[in-house]
Amino acid sequence: MWHRLQILMIFLLPVALVGGLYLLGLTVSVPVLGRSYVIRIILPEPGAHVGLPPIEGPQDASRPLVVIDAGHGGHDPGAVGEGFKEKTLALGLARALRDELVREGGIRVALTRSDDRFLVLEERAEIARRLGADLFLSIHADSAGEKDQVTGASVYTLSDKASSEAAARFAARENSADTVNGVTLAGRSDAVNSILVDLAQRRTSGSSATFAGLIVREGKGVLQFHPQPLRSAALAVLRAPDVPSVLYESGFVTNPNDAERLSSPEGRERFAKVMARAIKIYFARQAGV
Ligand code: ZN
Repeated sequence: MWHRLQILMIFLLPVALVGGLYLLGLTVSVPVLGRSYVIRIILPEPGAHVGLPPIEGPQDASRPLVVIDAGHGGHDPGAVGEGFKEKTLALGLARALRDELVREGGIRVALTRSDDRFLVLEERAEIARRLGADLFLSIHADSAGEKDQVTGASVYTLSDKASSEAAARFAARENSADTVNGVTLAGRSDAVNSILVDLAQRRTSGSSATFAGLIVREGKGVLQFHPQPLRSAALAVLRAPDVPSVLYESGFVTNPNDAERLSSPEGRERFAKVMARAIKIYFARQAGV
């Protein structure tokens, strides 16, 4: 009897599995002689707002929104120092800043990732655009070959050259249903679109530079900066043409002092307070207060 039951189970198990997948909304195409199994998982429609992170803070869409991006994550640890990983330090700083902004109130805030997951670079800026962010801050930490030699934070904006290249590429995206500063690009000539995107990008560059300057000003004497903290580079994560974007390299994971400072609760709090103040001043200026 028991043997029969076991044999029955062997036959019934695959049926139960297929039935289970069917019930879960997954389709299974059953193989025809020699073909391998294909399991199709039904994905959401392209363009559907699935997977966008929650917005925290006041539920008032007229309030400014900052998207905070903790660099790297998942299988990508970023820079690695002795016992420290960039992805973990960046996430700790991002969460501390979010908590500080939510506590102070008045500003809406979203994280591109709130746990240890991998996001491609384009996805990060795209999350900010799709949420309609007013400001984007990507948080990283550096590595250096020689320990103790290099230390301090830097603030990056997109270089002029990379900025105009990004504008051109964005304008050239085919069948673009995109909007830039509320203007739909579809149905306009390429020439008009490239002018629109270029104008948006210029304005965005100016705002990014303003915010970068505020971070350094507000952080003076509190955060430890690199001797030349304001830099520009061709960084993919900063290429949104209409969201002012800054990348904050918080320090060096390879420098024990920096890494310790960035991973301690006190260090995170110092960072969060300075950055929250810089963000508030930035938005106040934008609003013409
Ligand atoms: Zn990084």
